[in-house]
Parts: sequence; structure tokens; C-alpha cells
Amino acid sequence: MDIKDARERVKYLKDEISRHNYLYYVIDSPEIGDRDYDLLIRELVNIESEYPELLTLDSPTRRVGGIPLDAFVKIEHSEPMLSLDNALNIDELKAFFKRVSSTLGSDGVVYDCELKIDGLAVTLVYEDGVFISGATRGNGKIGEDVTSNLRTIRSLPLRLPQNIPGLLEVRGEVFMNKEDFAYLNLSREEKGEPLFANPRNASAGSLRQLDPAVTAKRPLSVYLYHVVDPDKYGLIDQFHILRWLKEIGFPTQNSNKLCSGPNEVLEFIEHWREKRHELEYVTDGVVVKVNDRTKWSRLGVTAKAPKWAIAFKYPPEEKLSTVIEIEVSVGRTGALTPTAILEPVHLAGTVVRRASLHNQDEVSRKDVRVGDRVWVRKAGEIIPEVVCVDKEGRNGTQRPFSMPLLCPVCGSPVVRLPEEVAVRCPNTSCPAQIREGLLHFASRQGLDIRGLGEKIIEQMIHQGLIHDLADIFLVSREKIASLQRMGYKSADNLLRSLESSRKCSLTNLLTALGIRYVGSKAAEVLADEYKDLSVLMASNEDELSSIPGIGPRIAASIIAYFRDPHNLAVIEKLKLAGVKMEEEIIDRNSFPMIFHDMRVVFTGEISSMSRHKAEEIVKKLGGRTSSSVSSRTSFVVVGVNPGSKYEKALSLNVKTIDERAFLEKIDPYRELL
Ligand code: NAD
Repeated sequence: MDIKDARERVKYLKDEISRHNYLYYVIDSPEIGDRDYDLLIRELVNIESEYPELLTLDSPTRRVGGIPLDAFVKIEHSEPMLSLDNALNIDELKAFFKRVSSTLGSDGVVYDCELKIDGLAVTLVYEDGVFISGATRGNGKIGEDVTSNLRTIRSLPLRLPQNIPGLLEVRGEVFMNKEDFAYLNLSREEKGEPLFANPRNASAGSLRQLDPAVTAKRPLSVYLYHVVDPDKYGLIDQFHILRWLKEIGFPTQNSNKLCSGPNEVLEFIEHWREKRHELEYVTDGVVVKVNDRTKWSRLGVTAKAPKWAIAFKYPPEEKLSTVIEIEVSVGRTGALTPTAILEPVHLAGTVVRRASLHNQDEVSRKDVRVGDRVWVRKAGEIIPEVVCVDKEGRNGTQRPFSMPLLCPVCGSPVVRLPEEVAVRCPNTSCPAQIREGLLHFASRQGLDIRGLGEKIIEQMIHQGLIHDLADIFLVSREKIASLQRMGYKSADNLLRSLESSRKCSLTNLLTALGIRYVGSKAAEVLADEYKDLSVLMASNEDELSSIPGIGPRIAASIIAYFRDPHNLAVIEKLKLAGVKMEEEIIDRNSFPMIFHDMRVVFTGEISSMSRHKAEEIVKKLGGRTSSSVSSRTSFVVVGVNPGSKYEKALSLNVKTIDERAFLEKIDPYRELL
């Protein structure tokens, strides 16, 4: 490449990188994968080192991050928040070791290896042990003031358990767990909102919100790994910095290891290559830091990154597979979703067989055809997705796909509303909608009907026993017992759980109905506000949208739901079947608020009472219940055969108690309950 070509290429790369920086850092919505971005940067670095005259001060190879958003108050960092240089393969890592030992003049360098959590960097300031302000990295010199948003992160200590006098500034990473990310994207998809590309973008998009109430609803966590001015606290090396942070009450990622020399670093990297997929959050590499701080100043910093550390990045896992078929399923709201059925492929710890293609627009954009060879990866290491088609591998046998004009389950002509990307089956009696609707109705967030699983629902629909949600309360004991693998004993169990689900809370009923955009959070707000379903049904759109946490879109959806004669008929039937339609009025004065402001989660079988009863008790005593564990959970009650919530509680360091301990807590108030 001569200088003329190099100049042109540099211009192209700078423009392209600036565009991707904007998409990634400013609006949290990248268009390309990190590896592709890193390769653009790498190419620019290479040309700039070949032609130093082309290196300018504004080059993205010399700058950190993006531009802080104007909507936020700016905070100037006390010391620059730098990025890290990357090693995209082992050879690049070895070159780093070489640079370090040639500067330090010895091979006996000890490195602290830490897992690189894929989130966004924040800096936190404490005064006399109390959290007073926090900011994003921004452009490295000036960040965005996100103090109020940071306050909503449960794992961020607002006051340190021990008083650290004066000003203390610490830095770390805000991130979102893989499962929470998948759940967030699922609910965004249901609401027709754009999806986040990965947990890093979801975290950044959640933290950089103008309304802290939105951040508060997003399950974010934080790990700290850096102290500004560590001399003040006598911290001589990175290993002690991490230990001290933990000791004074900060959450830290505890997998770090001291490695004597390059070989041990390489072992650490190999050890975590596969194992990292078992973690609850995404790690995209290993940060290798010279442990001894006295050596940091000798190694120095560039405009962008310290020279005493490097981020080794694992290559993204993308594999080739074949689209065997594109299947169309019908969801609870009637939305038709195309799914690629794939030749099984091993990715990030599991075998992937299917990947959602979301909607026709997405299929057309990627031009996915049946029979295509496709690159597959897991977004956020959890959600399988088709990245792109290997178009060169086509041989003419591939079949283009288009959404059916009729519902594949009930045959009704499908509709596409002008403002929506999804195609829908409009028939509310469509067996697929009833099936999905009933599964949701019976779920724990809904009426918690134990024993009503997929197979039973399918048989009931197939035999014409149920045509809508309410019919589930009308099926006779004989009919239930006659279903495959049921019998009278199982029928009686199911009838018993139907009986207890009739006494559900209004929150659960509202969630169970499956009104679009009304998940358990909105249901809780509505139940709190109206206390009675008939009062809610009589409200109007203006009134509803003025309720904090509801807003115009949810309000419009609620009104539309209660205008539909089919839904009104279902509600009437539910009422006749004895389903409770109002919130039990709890006289807060008559109960001791022992769970005041606490969030409690139950997992596993509670043998002494129904789950519903246990949750009611928590509410009467001032607490809230939730169906998922997050860092905001106060404690988890672990029954027999606990589910994954138990493991999640352990990994988040959330307190767990067994059923006996729960009963002991409530025992003094048994008479009142
Ligand atoms: P980086 O993510 O490569 O590494 C630096 C960051 O790692 C630090 O700022 C910190 O936030 C984080 N980190 C996590 N654990 C850490 C630990 N234990 N110790 C120290 N730091 C730790 O660098 P960056 O500047 O944050 O982002 C640049 C990267 O972002 C690029 O390499 C690319 O992968 C991605 N990016 C992608 C696009 C895109 O369009 N896809 C655009 C811009 C940037």
C-alpha cells in the first residue's frame, strides 16, 4: 500500500470507526460485532505505525470511548479513566509480555489475572464511607453523572460497612446477568421494542437513562476492581487492591489469580476458556495486570490505555450450521414467530438446535433461506441467533421463506397492524393462543396452578374441553382423570390447586390475563391503585396513563383489552367460577411490618402452606414478593427441590433461609394472619 492508498484507507477507517463508536457508546446499539470492530481498529493501528505521518491526535486509536451525552451533567474525572489495549490472540499477548519484561528488565514479573466482565466502566466517589457521586467513563476525561441511577443498583453499597474517612474513589464495571438480559430482551420483543445486542449494551442502555426509575427496574450489578490513589490506603499491588475492596464492603469478582510469569497466565486463560460459560454474566476475556504497582509508572500509559495491563479477548464463538427448516409458531398474543431449526451445533457450553428469526423483516434483512449454511452465535452467551448467511455456499436448492398468510394452527387469515413488525393471528380462540395463554395463566407469576402442564393443556384443547382461559375451572373430575397419565389421584391434586388459585391476588390475576404490556410489575401497580378488577375496568385511558409506572401505551392496551367482548366474557366466566377479583384490603396498622420494604422470593416446595398463602403473609407483614432473584432480593425462602433461583441467590450472595426459619419469623404473628 503506498501513502496515497494508505491515506484513503485511513480516512475510510476513521469514518467507519467513528460511526461505530457513536452506535456503540452513545446510543448503545451496535451494528457490528466486537471482533469486527477490533479488527478495524487493528488495521488502523497497523497503517498508522507504518505511516506515522498519518497519525493524528483525533485518531480513534488514541481516544477512549465515546462522547458523553449532553442530556447528562458532565463530571470531570479526577484521574483519566482509560481503556485497555487488546490482545486478540496468544501471539499478541506474548508480545505484551515481551514489552513488559524488556522495560522492567526482568522475566520474573508477577501478573494479576482477572476475568474481564463485559459491562461498562463506572467511577464511584464516597465521602466518609457514604456514596456521593458516580459517573460513566465517557471520553475518559469527562463522564456522565449517573449518580441517581447508580443508587438503584442493589449491590452498590450506599454506605460502607466501615467508615473510610475522607474521599475515596473506586472504579469498576456495571453489568447485567445473562439470564436477566435474555428476560429483558424477551419482554422488549413482546412489547415490539428494539432488542439489545448483548448484556453490555443492555447495561449501558439501562444505566444511561434519564429517568432513574427505568434504571431501577433493570437488574444491574456492579463489581469493583480499581482504587484511585491507592497509596492513601497503603495498597502496594493489584492483588491487595482487590482484597481490600472486598474487605471494606465492595462487591468484587473473586476469580482473580496471581500468576508468576507468562506460562501461568496462559494456563489461567485456558482454564477459563470454556468454564466462563458457566458464569451468570458474560466475560469476554481476561485482564492481565502487572501486579506490583511500583512498576506501573515505569511502564507508563499511552493516550488510551495503561502499558502495564492488557485485555486478552477470547474469540467470539460463531459456528456454521444448516437451516433444516423455518418453523412458524403462534404466541400468546397471536404473534407469528419464525424460528430456524438448525443442524445441532455446540456453542458456548450447550447444543443449539433452534434460533428465533423474530419476524419477516429480520428474515428478509438477513436473507435466510431453508437449506442455507448460516453462522450462528449466542447473543450474550445465551440467546442463539443467526448472524449471517454463507451466501457463497448456496447451490440453488435453498428455498426463500415468507410468512404464511394463514395462521399455521387455526387457519385464520393473519393480519399485520401498520405500526407493528409482527404478523398476528387475530382469532382469540386459536388453539395455539389458548395453549400459550393458559401456560402463562397457570404460571407462577399468574395463578400458579400447580400440576397444569403443557401436556395436559394440549390434551384438553385437543379434546375440546377448553376454548378459553376460564374453561379450565369448568372441566370435571372425570374428564381430568380420563386424560393420558392422569387418573383420579392426579385429577384431585389438580382440582385442589385450581381451588387455591381461585383465591389469587389481584396482581396475579392481572398478570395471568396476559393483557399486552401488563407484566407482573404493571399488574402490581394497577392492583395497588384499584384494588378491584371492576373498578379498574371502569377507569379510562387518561386516568390510567397518569398512574406512575403505567403510561399511555399500557393504558391504551388495557382499555382495548376490556373493550373486547371475548375478554369480557372470559372475565365473567372466571367470576362465576369463583376466582377472586379484588385485593384483600390489608389494614397495615393491624400487622407488624416485619418485612417492611423487603423483597422476598420463594423457590421449591413449601410444605406447610401453599405458595400463594406464603406470599400473602409476606405482603401482610409489609414485604413484596417477586418471582425472580436479583441483587435487590432481600432473602430467598428455599423449600424442597429448589430451582435455579437457589443457585442464583448463592451466586449473588443473596441471603437464603429454609422453610423452618421462615415459619419461625412469622410464628409470633400466626394468630393475626
Ligand atoms: P475494552 O472493553 O476492550 O476493555 C476495557 C474495559 O474493560 C475497561 O474500561 C473496563 O470497563 C473493562 N473491564 C472489565 N473487567 C475489568 C477488570 N477486571 N479490570 C479492568 N478493566 C476491566 O475497552 P473499551 O474501551 O471499554 O471498549 C472497547 C471495546 O468495545 C472494543 O474493543 C470493542 O470490543 C467494543 N466496541 C465495539 C463496537 C461495535 O460497534 N461493536 C464499537 C466500539 C467499541
